[in-house]
Amino acid sequence: PVVTRFAPSPTGFLHIGGARTAMFNWLFARHHGGKALLRIEDTDAARSTQEAIDAILEGLEWLGLDWDDEPVFQSERAARHAEVAYELLASGNAYKCFATSEELAEMREKQKAEKKPMRYDGRWRDRDPSEASADAPYVIRLKTEQSGKVTISDAVQGEVSVQNSEIDDFILLRSDGTPTYMLAVVVDDHDMGVTHLIRGDDHLNNAFRQLAMIRAMGWKEPVYGHIPLIHGNDGAKLSKRHGALGVEAYRDMGIMPDAMFNYLLRLGWGHGDDEIISRAQAIEWFGLDGVGKSPSRFDAKKLQNLNGQYIRDADDSALVALTTLGIEELLDRKLDHSDTELLAKAMPVLKNRAKNLIELSENSLFLFKKRPLGLDEQAKSLLDNDARTLLKSIHDALMDLEDWTLEATEEKTKAIAESAELGLGKLAQPMRAVLTGSTSSPGIFDVLVLLGKEESLARIADHIK
Ligand code: GLU
Repeated sequence: PVVTRFAPSPTGFLHIGGARTAMFNWLFARHHGGKALLRIEDTDAARSTQEAIDAILEGLEWLGLDWDDEPVFQSERAARHAEVAYELLASGNAYKCFATSEELAEMREKQKAEKKPMRYDGRWRDRDPSEASADAPYVIRLKTEQSGKVTISDAVQGEVSVQNSEIDDFILLRSDGTPTYMLAVVVDDHDMGVTHLIRGDDHLNNAFRQLAMIRAMGWKEPVYGHIPLIHGNDGAKLSKRHGALGVEAYRDMGIMPDAMFNYLLRLGWGHGDDEIISRAQAIEWFGLDGVGKSPSRFDAKKLQNLNGQYIRDADDSALVALTTLGIEELLDRKLDHSDTELLAKAMPVLKNRAKNLIELSENSLFLFKKRPLGLDEQAKSLLDNDARTLLKSIHDALMDLEDWTLEATEEKTKAIAESAELGLGKLAQPMRAVLTGSTSSPGIFDVLVLLGKEESLARIADHIK
């Protein structure tokens, strides 16, 4: 059975790169009917606050990723990590190193001066531990292979090799008895039964060291899939200057979780030319063979466009639910039942114009504004004397209208435009200004119909006195 894991180190937020790694692990497990596990790598006590951990959990939940079993907290497993270090010591695959930090600093200085690669030189590898004094502090180091090379058949990167001489006898257990990251990861992955390790390719170098440990323990080797990191739209490694890095920032910008999921999925993985991919399809189609080898570029504009498409395709009642809170904040009052009904009625029109839920909320505000409407600067600037005269004739003509429909209001307005020898746009602009308080809104006849006859005429009348 397939077992994957997502193993974030809490940093304060769920990074979009981490979110994608989480998704790929989740999809791979779901595709194979296996397990997707979560492990919080919280060994850095200063960074791993409850807040930072919650931020990761919330981000994952928002994206709709659920995990099997309870999350594992790495910090709680230090005793088990140490136990494995001592097992490796007992089997002769690891050794105690009593070198002092001064001694090692001196070693590195010398290597630097001789322009040699700086790495531990194995000085305690073959020495008798009894040469050190009984209470001397020591670290435990893995006794790594000295010659030949090691090759990983990575499911994404293909065959990757390094010379064993490049892998020094790295530390497993520090002198204070705490495990290194390298040890903790290998032990946890083994104990959790992880079969497939899908993670960023910044961990590829670690994989060779981790594999050395796995082999020394005689454990089953996992399948590795190191996915290329996400870059910014200029091709440079993704950083703050490219925009928000945390998933929650996109949530706050009004991105729909399904759109984020779809966008991140396609960032590094593809299925032909398909752009809109549902979760169910993603689960059905996902595989590491579809993961590209080169870094993909994060493009916030594309994300917004995709989000716009998700909004257009979303269920109207779902969108009402998703925007109500935002609208209430903007209006500073609660929506009552008739407000919500009006919002639902307007949604088919509103949703065609919004790239995110914030815009959607903002665009709906005209429905709920109280008379007399405050006008924004641009709207105000449209209301000169000519415009007011026009509005007066529109008002009077519409007043006679029995049948308040899109067609009828349009017909009437057009007739006025014709007799005034003006384009429809010339009329629509001041109408929009007084009906919505702004210069952008859904189509003007949609606005009339949504507001209703009484309210529409009253809003116009407020500005022709
Ligand atoms: N905790 C590591 C990170 O956040 C991931 C370790 C791993 O996937 O092996 O980068």
